[in-house]
Amino acid sequence: MAATTTLPIEEELNPRLAAEARFDEAARRLNLDDGLRKVLRTPSREITVYIPVQLDDGRLEVFTGYRVQHSMVRGPAKGGIRFAPDLTLDEVRALAAWMTWKCAVVNLPFGGAKGGVVCDPDLLSLSELERITRRYTAELIPMIGPESDVAAPDMNTNEQVMAWMMDTYSMHMRQTTTAVVTGKPLDLGGSRGRTEATGRGCLFVIGEALRRFGMEPASTRVVIQGFGNVGGMAAKLLSQAGYRIISIIEIEGAVHNPRGLDIPALMRHRKETGSILDFPEADNIERDEAMFLDCEVLLPAAKENVLTSQNAGRIRARILCEGANGPTTPLADEILAGKGIFVIPDILANAGGVTVSYFEWVQDRQGYFWNEELINTRLEEIMVNSFRDVTGYADRHGVNNRIAAYMLALDRVAFAIKLRGIYA
Ligand code: NAD
Repeated sequence: MAATTTLPIEEELNPRLAAEARFDEAARRLNLDDGLRKVLRTPSREITVYIPVQLDDGRLEVFTGYRVQHSMVRGPAKGGIRFAPDLTLDEVRALAAWMTWKCAVVNLPFGGAKGGVVCDPDLLSLSELERITRRYTAELIPMIGPESDVAAPDMNTNEQVMAWMMDTYSMHMRQTTTAVVTGKPLDLGGSRGRTEATGRGCLFVIGEALRRFGMEPASTRVVIQGFGNVGGMAAKLLSQAGYRIISIIEIEGAVHNPRGLDIPALMRHRKETGSILDFPEADNIERDEAMFLDCEVLLPAAKENVLTSQNAGRIRARILCEGANGPTTPLADEILAGKGIFVIPDILANAGGVTVSYFEWVQDRQGYFWNEELINTRLEEIMVNSFRDVTGYADRHGVNNRIAAYMLALDRVAFAIKLRGIYA
């Protein structure tokens, strides 16, 4: 089926418009009143900070940083910090709202936030990055904290950046406060299982989708785009669970073996050669062709906007599991629905990461750390229950899984607002 709406391609690819389109559709179907709609659409707080930083050559530079807290209704705001040269407040706003809905879909006691600094990490030294991180954190002190706003790594930030944020906050508080950020190093209040969490979450929801359709892992062919944290972990765990990973797609191209790839061997090959290509037990194929291979599961785990009105008609998968954030545009959604493809939407499929971040926050506040088995058992329980909540909602309301996920999330946040009442 062709998309019923046409949009200029640059609008189709705008993440804010994509998020708003899904919000509006879910709010309309929920018959949400205008007042609540206004509250849920608007962030609770936005902060812009201008950060003076001395560069290594002695010059002073001023960087711009943002933190947007979209909602704190269900608990502390939760969301990542990104460092990027083209970061905009509009983008941070959209990503903050996205976090509110993601946390609500998996029923975590968090609201949503996002933040970042406009800078190019490729042009900065490690000590310059540390000074930017520390001054940015210091400027945000009055509004962040374990009970108010908990940051995490995102694009171009990592566990070292989280360690600096935690240390800066702790110095101001005059006490070590590990729960102020998640995604920290294991030796500094980080959680076991965090690195694998998002890929493992994908494994659990794909397992549930198979159960729904009476399918078996051994006869399930999987194509994965992106062999980084999410895609690499998902590939490893799915192949361990007996799935047949027939193609891995990376920036440099794709590899294909219809009998299934040996994922640990492919990881070793990439480590030795710097590329997935020319893997002895597979054929090199065009990366733009691999997405359209005949398979049971397609798992985009690289970047946003890879499935658009231009190519969604060519997808031959039965199940689409969105490991990446925003891989499918709203126009592509219509095409996938027309083809009867079962979509596990990003705010559910990749929520394993924020779920184990939640576990990290709980463990830090308890001062008691869980073993990996407990982490994985609890992650499975949350992912499986959330999958059933979303698909049950979709079946009951006759909507697709993405709109069901948004409806469920909006409903939960709106209900919390009603229970709390509006403070005046
Ligand atoms: P990553 O940088 O570790 O991996 C991304 C991989 O995709 C890289 O290996 C990169 O080379 C590859 N890639 C980039 N563009 C590509 C293209 N056009 N075709 C094929 N491969 C391409 O990042 P990640 O942490 O795995 O995140 C991937 C996606 O998942 C992002 O959308 C991210 O926002 C989302 N996500 C990540 C987490 C997490 O816990 N890491 C949680 C939720 C959502």
